[in-house]
Order: sequence, then structure tokens, then C-alpha cells
Amino acid sequence: MQTPAPFEYERATSVEGAIATLQRIGPEARLIAGGHSLLPMMKLRLANPEYLIDINDLEEELSYVDERITEIRIGALTRHAELLESELLARRAPVFRDAEEVIADPVVRNRGTIGGSLCQADAAEDLSAVCAALKANVVLRGPDGERVIGMDGFYIGPFTTAVGADEMLTEVRIPLRSGAGSAHEKVERRAGDFAIAAVSAAVWIEGGVIADAGIALGALGPTTIIATRAEEALKGRPPSEELFSQAGEIAKEDCAPVPDGRGPVDYKRHLANVLTVRALRRATSRALQQEA
Ligand SMILES: Cc1cc2nc3c(=O)[nH]c(=O)nc-3n(C[C@H](O)[C@H](O)[C@H](O)COP(=O)(O)OP(=O)(O)OC[C@H]3O[C@@H](n4cnc5c(N)ncnc54)[C@H](O)[C@@H]3O)c2cc1C
Repeated sequence: MQTPAPFEYERATSVEGAIATLQRIGPEARLIAGGHSLLPMMKLRLANPEYLIDINDLEEELSYVDERITEIRIGALTRHAELLESELLARRAPVFRDAEEVIADPVVRNRGTIGGSLCQADAAEDLSAVCAALKANVVLRGPDGERVIGMDGFYIGPFTTAVGADEMLTEVRIPLRSGAGSAHEKVERRAGDFAIAAVSAAVWIEGGVIADAGIALGALGPTTIIATRAEEALKGRPPSEELFSQAGEIAKEDCAPVPDGRGPVDYKRHLANVLTVRALRRATSRALQQEA
């Protein structure tokens, strides 16, 4: 089946208007941003929303990458292509450019958005791992105002997030801290494909030791996995190959891949290990370059 079920459609003219429609229609209404995840699912009848609210006219309100004193703020409708080209992100959070270079192709990157990528909640979305490793917060706006939640509380199951039926993700906030370095590593079957496995890592180095770390595993479980035990193992210790190997082994133990067309479980666990080591190595090298 390659055609979606019938649905009604409106173009939102403001964030408030879109939220009011979500509230009025209820759970049968869905926002559509780039449409690169939702439309394929509708064509396959895996998603059957009765009412689509198109937010593509809200670029003025929702498309930006801004630096503040303590964080970078990214509007939900910012496209992959804009994230790829952002010099600010390349400098302050290079994990974004690493990931964007291997997400899909220019056609998808010109339309797909960060808000759609995070809300799709596919465990293989590269930006979910990126934002989780960076310990980002997301702003959810609903009829009663805004709430801000961390990426550690954002995913509540496969393809399921903490975003309420009458809420919209409006902004992603990346905390800015000194001594930071970050990197994304991915193995895919062919260029532009979803990951067989992917790992985003961030480290914050102070006085020669890893003061804090973020490690997020993509396509290695039912949701994006935050490898908290591996993060803890790094804290307070000077970076070294031995330490990265320990973290890689823990990530291998703590991931939860399933066998599928992209590979068997053992292979994916092996990738969790190897990609964690590589991502930590590159993130640390970038952090140390910043310090020098
Ligand atoms: C051929 C192909 C290859 C791809 N390869 C990759 C890849 O390698 N890596 C990767 O990470 N991704 C990949 N993608 C997915 C791509 O990144 C999509 O653009 C992304 O998943 C969804 O973004 P979107 O803006 O298109 O969302 P949409 O499809 O418009 O929406 C997705 C979901 O999010 C909801 N939503 C959208 N915006 C909001 C919002 N602001 N607030 C609340 N809910 C919202 C929608 O209601 C829907 O449920 C690929 C896609 C295609 C078609």
C-alpha cells in the first residue's frame, strides 16, 4: 500500500495556532515538519493521522541556531542542511557536523528538521544520539505554556517521546561548558543509510581529567541508549586509550541490539565497543585542542 489514508490538512500560521489545533482535534492530529519520516509511515499505513498540521511556514519563529552565554539554542524547524553548514555548531559542538555528514542525502537534509528527527524517536536517528550525548534540553510548548526536559527523560519507548498530544517541541538547548569536545561515529551499509550502529560522545576536560562525559548509542536498542555506566567510568580520570577501552566494553555490555537485516547481535555489540572508543578518542582530541 503506497498511498496514505485520507486526512485533513492545514498550514499553521503561528506556534500558538498549531498548538490550539492540536488541543482541539486531539490525538488524531499530527504536526508535519520535513515529512521525511511521517509521510513514508503514512504511505505504509504505519501511521494514520486524521489531521495534519503543517508547520513549514513557521520558519521565522522556529528556524535558527543562536549562541547565548551558557547554551546554543536551535529552533525545532532548523533543517539538517542548516545544521551541517553551521560554523557555530562546527566550532562549539562538532558532533553535529560529524552526524550531519552521514545523515541521508541532500534531498532529505534540505527538508528534514531537528524537531522531526527527535520526535520521530527512531532509535537509529543520528541527532537523537548527538543531543543525548551533549546532555541537551528540549523545550516543549503546550496550551499551558512551556516546560523544559532533559534528553535523559525524553524517550519513553520505541517511537514514543514525552511530548504530549497537545504539545510541540519548539527548541533544543545545548549547554556550553569549558573543555568540551564531541564526536559522532557511525557504521552504515551504504552512504546515507540509517546506522547499523552509531555512537555520539562528549567529554568535558578540566585540569587534565574528564570532569563529565556523555555517551549515547544509536540503533543499539529499542530507543537511543544513554550509556550511563560508561559515562561514570570516565569521570574524574585522565583520558587514556585504556580508559576508552573500558568504556567501550561497558557500552558493549549495556546496549540491547536486536538481529535484523542490518546485522546480528554480536556484530552490533562489537560495533558498540569500537565506535565508543573511536568517538571518545576523537572527542577528547578535540577537547584538548580547544584547551591548547
Ligand atoms: C531516505 C531517507 C534516509 C534517511 N537517513 C537517515 C539517516 O541516515 N540518519 C537519520 O538520523 N535520519 C535519516 N532519515 C530521517 C530524516 O532525518 C528525517 O528528516 C527525520 O527523521 C524526521 O524529520 P522531519 O522533519 O522530516 O519529520 P516529520 O517526518 O515531519 O515528523 C516526524 C515525527 O515528528 C513529529 N514532529 C515533527 N516536528 C515536530 C515538532 N516540532 N514537535 C513535535 N512533534 C514534531 C511528527 O508529528 C512526526 O510524528 C532518513 C530519511 C529518509 C527518507
